[in-house]
Amino acid sequence: MQTTTTCPYCGVGCGVKAEIADDCVVAVKGNEEHPANFGRLCVKGSSLNEVLGAEGRLLNPVVDDEIVEWDSALETVAEGFKRTIMEHGPDSVAFYLSGQLLTEDYYIANKLMKGFVGTANVDTNSRLCMSSAVAGYKRAFGADAVPCCYEDLELAELIIITGSNAAWNHPILFQRMKAAKAKNPNLKIVVVDPRRTATCDIADLHIQLKAETDSSLFTGLLSYLARHDHLDYEYIANFTEGFADARANAEFTFPDVDSVAKACDLPIMQLRTFFEWYAKTEKVVTFYSQGVNQSASGTDNSNAIINCHLATGRLGKEGAGPFSITGQPNAMGGREVGGLANQLAAHMELNSPEAVDCVGRFWGSDNVATSAGYKAVDLFEAIEAGKVKAIWIMGTNPAVSLPNADQVVRSLKQCPLVVVSDCMAHTDTVALANVCLPATGWSEKNGTVTNSERRISRQRSLLPPSGEAKPDWWIISEVAKRMGYEQAFNYDHPYEIFKEHAELSGFENNGSRAFDISQLQDLDLKSYDALKPQQWPVTDAAPYGTARLFADGKFFTPSGKAQFITVDPHDPLQQPCDAMPFVMNTGRIRDQWHTMTHTGRTSRLFQHREEPFVELNREDAEKLNIKESELVKLKNIQAEYIGRARIVDTDQRRGEIFVPMHWNKQFSAKARMGALVQPAVDPFSGQPEGKHAVVNVEPYNPAWEGWLITRKPLDDALPVEYWSRVPKESASLYYLADSIKIEDMRSWCQQQFGEIDIWLEDANQKSFRAAGLNGEQLEWAFFRMPYGQIPSTLWLEQLFAETEVNMDQRRFLLSVTGCELEDPGEIICSCYQVGSHAIEDAIQQGCNSLDALGNKLKCGTNCGSCIPELNGMLGK
Ligand code: SF4
Repeated sequence: MQTTTTCPYCGVGCGVKAEIADDCVVAVKGNEEHPANFGRLCVKGSSLNEVLGAEGRLLNPVVDDEIVEWDSALETVAEGFKRTIMEHGPDSVAFYLSGQLLTEDYYIANKLMKGFVGTANVDTNSRLCMSSAVAGYKRAFGADAVPCCYEDLELAELIIITGSNAAWNHPILFQRMKAAKAKNPNLKIVVVDPRRTATCDIADLHIQLKAETDSSLFTGLLSYLARHDHLDYEYIANFTEGFADARANAEFTFPDVDSVAKACDLPIMQLRTFFEWYAKTEKVVTFYSQGVNQSASGTDNSNAIINCHLATGRLGKEGAGPFSITGQPNAMGGREVGGLANQLAAHMELNSPEAVDCVGRFWGSDNVATSAGYKAVDLFEAIEAGKVKAIWIMGTNPAVSLPNADQVVRSLKQCPLVVVSDCMAHTDTVALANVCLPATGWSEKNGTVTNSERRISRQRSLLPPSGEAKPDWWIISEVAKRMGYEQAFNYDHPYEIFKEHAELSGFENNGSRAFDISQLQDLDLKSYDALKPQQWPVTDAAPYGTARLFADGKFFTPSGKAQFITVDPHDPLQQPCDAMPFVMNTGRIRDQWHTMTHTGRTSRLFQHREEPFVELNREDAEKLNIKESELVKLKNIQAEYIGRARIVDTDQRRGEIFVPMHWNKQFSAKARMGALVQPAVDPFSGQPEGKHAVVNVEPYNPAWEGWLITRKPLDDALPVEYWSRVPKESASLYYLADSIKIEDMRSWCQQQFGEIDIWLEDANQKSFRAAGLNGEQLEWAFFRMPYGQIPSTLWLEQLFAETEVNMDQRRFLLSVTGCELEDPGEIICSCYQVGSHAIEDAIQQGCNSLDALGNKLKCGTNCGSCIPELNGMLGK
């Protein structure tokens, strides 16, 4: 049987066709009819069926480490929240939600807290993702409304990709831009990024600006457009306000291109080219993402971008507009229902008495919150300060992802009631919960999500829930009923919630709010099940949705005009100093997602990058005496991080480093980048400055290094300073290192891994090898040896699939000479498992183009995520 659904990873929101047989998703492929992806999927989407199954799932409700019945767990949560509210008031409780929740889940969580408990202490991990883009749109347009659609990427003649490694983070949109460029030779692409990333593969121009100078660049561009008479005076006069001030300030701050070049540390000729292209091209899309948002100037960055579009009237037209791309699958759905602590519901504001009255009448509640609650960073500080005493975290992992993540851990450890709903049993945050509630995961959930172009799509349930797992909307509703709100939370199916959400969007709206899907309020179960992807607003006037907003020049501000915002660029809050001279940038890698709770379940997605790493410039590395693949320690006033050095040339600016955001305590000893990020936030959006932490960088010099391969992952963290776990098909591989010498390695191994059956020690070579068997089966093998000498582990991995290890294999095992399987090198093409060695060989044999490599090895011929790396290997 085949069912259509939506990928749960990124904000592109690709349509998926899932093949189901015997209660298993046996295959997935892109849905050719879905307008987000037209049949394509990236490597993460195409491995969705590999991350399912009961292993690692949270299967039962757990209270104080004991498995309990649902009724008892729900009662514990309801009683705990009721008691806390009674004793300390409604603002002593909070929810921390997630852009992975479905809109129906989000709606119910928001309704309970803001509508009935009477607190706006409901924030979400979307605060870390795009809250600055939201604040920017609201300041400019009076509404959190993305004006563009994906088709604009194909219709544009200039695309500026800023603060986004789209090739890795939004791969299908990258593929669409790449295809558009191939089709239209006039399309120019400019990438603005302090790093040279895989996205630069399609760039005509890479603006490698100094970190955190985005608002200088775009304010400088506004100055250039004004000084060179490239303005749309009619548009400015008819549809905007505030231009004179914004223009005067831009021209005063950046009187010439030279001043912008100095502020951004860029070659002046490069800037001139960029500014000229912008000035002379009508159809311009600025495509921006976390690199713009995760900044203490994130909102100003957004408005600096929007100002340029308003000044040239490039908005609400085909192929033009400021296009914020969300990181998470349903960040937009969360924004629709009011999932942020400073929103009410359906694009209504907490500080508007009319809106509070309207929502109160709609929900039948006289206890609607009237002021903003704690935003993410403030929320966990309020918990540590004892102001918030009960928190419910749903589907997210703040102990890893939030800035000052060690503070988050401290705050949760001392919070009297921590409830966590999650589908996974082992996350850094679940480990801190008093109550764990098993939630359904992708393939079991049923509801809707909204992608970056405002397109609402169905995420359909494909399989029955694992164990005792329940949908989030059901869990919240059951708690709400037990808190005394039976009537308002009496739902049997998510379609009832969706209908209510749609009805509220149109309730007393009359064109005053951008978000309006009232045309969908009469759906019945059948039509909800069959709902086709469509872009809001969906109204009487636009019953099939709306591709672009603001074509009529009418905005949602009090005057109906768009607002120019005067932007004063300023330095980041965290400044390098002698003790912490490096700027740390953070971000995603190609094959992982968030804190690996899902993508960490398949070995395939580790083949591209196995371990946490630190990418740094070659000259910096030489100065610090750091060599490729050696371990590096980062340190600042908050925490330490250990990862493997990846040395690059000009891809990384001197004085700046990059670390991935994914690793956590389930996968590595000290690789939570959030622990290093200081809690500096944007003053308007509260979004943390996640891409600009300051750190010291030094080589980590271990007294010994080794590796372990074991059938079962270890229950507890190893007592070594560095370990990193890499899931394999039938085993787990660990890389280990420590600065403390171990005198008796044999005893240490026995203590850590169990009985030793065979071992070999060479005191001169300082090597030690040991293995443990269970009967005739290999259970674990440990090798003390420097990282650089580790051979391919493929042969050993295969031993774990065998029922018996024979005498020859035991001999080989200790000498590591049985590795006759060819080492593929780093896996470049995850779809077809093509390693760097095969690609290098093929290039040597004369394959000098992507087509030639694709014909020979198939690499790059499926999702295309590896094409930039293939091009790099081809020297293109
Ligand atoms: Fe999923 Fe990849 Fe599409 Fe994002 S681009 S929605 S991760 S398939």
